[in-house]
Amino acid sequence: MASQLKVSGMNHVFHRSAVASYPVASSGEGVYIKDTAGKSYFDASGGAAVSCLGHSDKRVIDAIKAQLDEIPFAHSGFFSNEPMERLADHLIARAPGDLDRVYFVSGGSEAVEAALKMARQYFMEIGQPERHKIIARKQSYHGNTLGALAVGGNEWRREQFRPLLIDIAHVSPCYAYRGRQDDESEEAYGQRVADELEAAIQEHSPETVAAFVCEPVVGATLGAVPPVPGYLKRIREICDAHDILLIFDEVMCGMGRTGYLFACEEDGVAPDLLTIAKGLGAGYQPIGATLVSKKIFEAIRDGSGFFQHGHTYMGHPAACAGALAVQQVIEEDGLLNRVRVMGGKLKTALEERFGNHPHVGDIRGRGLFIGIELVEDRASKQSFDPSLKLHAKVKTNAMANGLMCYPMGGTIDGRTGDHILLAPPFIIDDSHVDEIVEKLGAAVESALASR
Ligand code: PLP
Repeated sequence: MASQLKVSGMNHVFHRSAVASYPVASSGEGVYIKDTAGKSYFDASGGAAVSCLGHSDKRVIDAIKAQLDEIPFAHSGFFSNEPMERLADHLIARAPGDLDRVYFVSGGSEAVEAALKMARQYFMEIGQPERHKIIARKQSYHGNTLGALAVGGNEWRREQFRPLLIDIAHVSPCYAYRGRQDDESEEAYGQRVADELEAAIQEHSPETVAAFVCEPVVGATLGAVPPVPGYLKRIREICDAHDILLIFDEVMCGMGRTGYLFACEEDGVAPDLLTIAKGLGAGYQPIGATLVSKKIFEAIRDGSGFFQHGHTYMGHPAACAGALAVQQVIEEDGLLNRVRVMGGKLKTALEERFGNHPHVGDIRGRGLFIGIELVEDRASKQSFDPSLKLHAKVKTNAMANGLMCYPMGGTIDGRTGDHILLAPPFIIDDSHVDEIVEKLGAAVESALASR
């Protein structure tokens, strides 16, 4: 006899945390999310730098509904679809360098996996099969699938899966607050850490290295850390000198978050492969993409003719229609400029509130992508005892106050250090800036008081 249907009491989801209990989100209005108990939360982190248009943009929702009425899904092994074609045109018309093709996937980790495999296949196609090594940076995050996790330099995420991860060389990040010496200019520091890439290439034999991967502005792991002037240019020079592909992971920092559609535009450097997700679809649909340079695309087209990869939902019509609408709203509403203006206001307000705070060591970032590093002692930059889990306390207190922010621990080495990442929707206004600073201030103070 068939077993009886189990009665559902909302007890069967395997949540991110198997021990936490989460409020249930029931509606969204602008920058706010409401739960089923009626409590409202200001989304000052866009979840994890996702919801750049807030939670109720009708133009995006209508575009997705209209696409569902036309055709919800047609497998990309059989058909192309109009929103996918139009979204690719839109992105490439604005993309830096000679990025020329878009490979659509469903999220950031998938975009990184595709970029890594594309880099490898490129060298197979052009007759350099010995090139397979990837170099990346410590204190980075590129996703949780095995390839992306291996490339990432986030130690606490990698720890238990280490035996399953491919071997990757990791060089230092460009993290001026902690890495720059007192007598060193920002530029000199940037050249010094970029030159670690040159040393790693030499150590691993240049003719075996396929690609270098980095986040132009580091997101979750370091807390909105931009490169110093000249750093990415030097990285590009080193890659070019050895014919190594440069991959920029803009899953978090791209699509307008820094005030530029592509974060690397601000540094005047273009990669060979560029990954995006999060703000591409703004959370209205799951979507990511890998932008590919002409030379890589042509090597595959004129070689085997087929990128040996693929996922069932790549180029999903409803996801592409939603993302295209998101990108059009960003342009129609002049949101890149708004990000720069409101980012400046938010940073100034945070500096006023926390600039002399005894436990705030650094306030950094670009546009509406801002990190605050918490320290035990400002002068020595001594971090808090990690067992205090200060970052987790800030998150809990902020949620209790009706504020979503994105605190994280392990800022310095995967174990010590605490920071808070802010990535509010691009639509915030002056009163929202005040609300973020006030609620965040209360959450930080109560976390510090409960040490
Ligand atoms: N790359 C970066 C820079 C990210 O910040 C993230 C997610 O936070 C990813 C990749 C992975 O994206 P996803 O969580 O959509 O798989």
